[in-house]
Amino acid sequence: MYLTEYHHHTDNSFDSKARMEDVCAEAVKRGIDEICFTEHFSVNPNLPTYGHLDFEQYFSQIHHVQDKYRGRLVIKAGIELCEPHLMKDEYKQALQELELDFILGSVHNINEIKLRKYMGDKKPFEVYHDYFTEVYKLVSEADIDVIAHLDLMKRYAMESKGNYQFDDFNEILEAILRKAVERGIGIEINTSGISNMKVNEPFPTQSILKLYKSLGGEILTIGSDSHRVETVGSNLDEALKMAKAAGFRYIHTFKKRKVHGWPLQI
Ligand SMILES: [Zn+2]
Ligand SMILES: [Zn+2]
Repeated sequence: MYLTEYHHHTDNSFDSKARMEDVCAEAVKRGIDEICFTEHFSVNPNLPTYGHLDFEQYFSQIHHVQDKYRGRLVIKAGIELCEPHLMKDEYKQALQELELDFILGSVHNINEIKLRKYMGDKKPFEVYHDYFTEVYKLVSEADIDVIAHLDLMKRYAMESKGNYQFDDFNEILEAILRKAVERGIGIEINTSGISNMKVNEPFPTQSILKLYKSLGGEILTIGSDSHRVETVGSNLDEALKMAKAAGFRYIHTFKKRKVHGWPLQI
């Protein structure tokens, strides 16, 4: 099986100290065939992901490791955007000259407030409803390849509000996934929830994977969302099992934003 890690951060992201070279060395050790770095970026000065990513430095590091690991590890240049359905013109302008392979779209904030803070004393239903509504706007409007961690809200809400009931949000989830299929946007299995003691399951949950597949969705990537060297590729095997159980036959990679499917063989 061609092993892919399609969500990883380095010190090009504001919240990671990992060196790209070290991550690549560890990925090779773990038998990963292809890694895509997905650094945080935003054009909104009010968000913490603004102003950290230096594209010149990022691409020079990418080119360096691509040379160094040629024949051993395929390395792609990706990015993870905060709410790219907002400030679309600014995003377009900021990204147009860049040779990006892959764009993840994320909802990390609602009304410029971090999800964790946004919850406040709101009722559980409201918290998840508002989050999924924002994801619907993301998938309807943004120029992205894959929706990152589709039910991320549970990471913050699990402890104080509990998990959401899939059936309570069936309608909006179906709307999100129909829109994704219509616009050729994929989803990811983000394994960071598995190792999080409070969450204990990936983003998104298996029911969402199955729903996406049943609506004709095919484009699926797998990533750990690791911010550290030692967690590169963590729980990828678990994600592959989930993908297979949900009926997927391919795992996807991207080159200059063109998708490619690799047979899922486990
Ligand atoms: Zn994210
Ligand atoms: Zn991430």
